[in-house]
Amino acid sequence: IEFVQVLRMPGHKDKKWEESPPAHVKSLQTIQETKKSLPIYPFRKDLIQAIKDHQVLIIEGETGSGKTTQIPQYLYESGFADDGKIIGCTQPRRVAAMSVAARVAHEMAVKLGNEVGYAIRFEDCTSQRTRIKYMTDGTLHREFLSEPDLASYSVMIIDEAHERTLHTDILFGLVKDIARFRPNLKLLVSSATLDATKFSEFFDDAPIFRIPGRRFPVDIYYTKAPESDYIEACVVSIIQIHITQPSGDILVFLTGQEEIETCQEMLQERVRRLGSKLAEILILPVYANLPSDMQIKIFQPTPPGARKVVLATNIAETSLTIDNIVYVIDPGYAKQNNFNPRTGMESLIVVPISKASANQRAGRAGRVAPGKCFRLYTAWAYQHELEDNTVPEIQRINLGNAVLTLKALGIDDLMHFDFLDPPPPETLILAMEQLYALGALNHRGELTKLGRRMAEFPLDPMMAKMLLASEKYRCSEEVATIAAMLSVNGAIFYRPKDKIIHADAARKNFHAPGGDHLTLLNVYNQWAQSDFSTHWCYENFIQHRSMKRARDVREQLVGLMQRVEMELVSGITETVNIRKAITAGYFYHVARLSKGGCYKTAKHNQQVTIHPNSSLFQDLPRWLLYHELVLTTKEFMRQVTEIESKWLLEVAPHYYKPKEVEDSTNKKMPKVAGRSRPDGTN
Ligand code: ADP
Ligand code: MG
Repeated sequence: IEFVQVLRMPGHKDKKWEESPPAHVKSLQTIQETKKSLPIYPFRKDLIQAIKDHQVLIIEGETGSGKTTQIPQYLYESGFADDGKIIGCTQPRRVAAMSVAARVAHEMAVKLGNEVGYAIRFEDCTSQRTRIKYMTDGTLHREFLSEPDLASYSVMIIDEAHERTLHTDILFGLVKDIARFRPNLKLLVSSATLDATKFSEFFDDAPIFRIPGRRFPVDIYYTKAPESDYIEACVVSIIQIHITQPSGDILVFLTGQEEIETCQEMLQERVRRLGSKLAEILILPVYANLPSDMQIKIFQPTPPGARKVVLATNIAETSLTIDNIVYVIDPGYAKQNNFNPRTGMESLIVVPISKASANQRAGRAGRVAPGKCFRLYTAWAYQHELEDNTVPEIQRINLGNAVLTLKALGIDDLMHFDFLDPPPPETLILAMEQLYALGALNHRGELTKLGRRMAEFPLDPMMAKMLLASEKYRCSEEVATIAAMLSVNGAIFYRPKDKIIHADAARKNFHAPGGDHLTLLNVYNQWAQSDFSTHWCYENFIQHRSMKRARDVREQLVGLMQRVEMELVSGITETVNIRKAITAGYFYHVARLSKGGCYKTAKHNQQVTIHPNSSLFQDLPRWLLYHELVLTTKEFMRQVTEIESKWLLEVAPHYYKPKEVEDSTNKKMPKVAGRSRPDGTN
């Protein structure tokens, strides 16, 4: 690949850093030395003083300066947790919350879960002793339901504020409000980039504490021509760097686990072919569902003579800092959740990143030495095709969940909620309509009894409704299993490239008539019958780790179901009830068969396609519901189940009119012979 260098991103250095040791000796430093070498260290006293002087403080500092790992420790050492109160710190990403907590526990030489812990959805690794608690922003949002004044906290740090996730944005409004009547609660908003002024204005002109950064210059290279296959381009660039460039680790930004695995396999293959001509290369993936033993590996120092290649999602853009990165490869894409309020369709799509993101990524190359960033797009594309900034999540995703939680907190007038950037009114209205159709709100927009019970679950409103409806349909045990299986982050079915035929055959054995939800139930039940055996998973190409997680999630859901006094029932043999319960939650996600084996969404006539991994891929039922949409080459429906249109009138009479679900028969269409997996899908 031919690259052209276009510009050099200047470095900057505070005088204080002149004596800091060069990068290559870093691995020999003790923990104390490492802590002292972080840019934030010389400012710790001033910082603590500023926190004592002000109730709300905005902290700005370059990524990797030590904000996330050090500030809670400084606060702890300064006595902010002495009276049994907790120092809280939110993170937009689960992996970051876990990984940072583990790091801080290590730095403080305590066991994770004791003085330092973390809490993420479905996983609470804290105890009575916990004084520093990392958590996702979504988890804190839910904590407001049980503790509206956050009484157990002395300090709350809203960290990585620049990421502007939906939950972080809502937290801004909530914490600003409680700070008014809890003068002893300290509030810190910490951010990597230049939004500090905006945050300060929002928090009634709170002072900004800037941590001077240290960054070496980074040379930016662009491709001469656009690259059609960026994974291939990544692999080639990695090898090029490895052969032609001096030592230093490589960080590659990809959009998700599947891409990372593909890239990893291709790279391993290429390295194998080049054989002993190459110096050793260590390939390390980082993504949201990476098991924690693998997470530790990315932070281990590279052995002398070898080179580390980290294949990461956006998580390495600002949330996680991996030391000794000198080269960054940036294909310019990220995966994003997008919602179209007009069609009510929400889907995961791969989109071009913003200029701000591209520059963040490039900056990762200049932390320890002058670096290089290889952008796999042209300078023209950077100038003309990338937006300046990423649109905050609140302005582009479905707000159903957020609205439900806010309503449960007693915040009724959402149009006048104190938003940093308000969501588009039509998105708010649509969320209210959706909650009304689900029965969570009444016609005055007030929370119903059902809505209150739905809010008890840390689930999307549709899934919460499905669970609650299962009681009426006498299948709550089964639906709890389905909800748990759908909530597991990470795949259930294992599909290694060299055993695809075996894996697909194994998967087919689980196929249940009716569709994917019942297939998931089938997998879980058979696993339970095997006494939750690891060996059984191995034999059946099922990911044991995902199954264990499903079991955990299921246990917690059952606990919550008992808390809202649901009756736990099971044992129905007919699947109609289970499918009706699912429909009661997911009637928004219904599609009907139209000409030529295509599907159209029931209300808005948008074209959608069954995902090739679905058990119904060749069946083509007339009516079906889907769990989610994923846009790759087409809008693919993932996890689909066959339904009967007349159920829609039963479960959502205020949403569907008899005319809309008219259908002379509910019989299946004849099977289409020889449909095969189209390429480019996953
Ligand atoms: P900031 O929040 O300002 O971006 P961090 O506190 O995340 O900075 O990072 C400070 C330092 O801690 C970095 O040098 C980073 O490499 C190190 N660090 C963070 N997490 C880990 C970890 N899990 N293992 C080893 N080092 C880590
Ligand atoms: Mg941080």
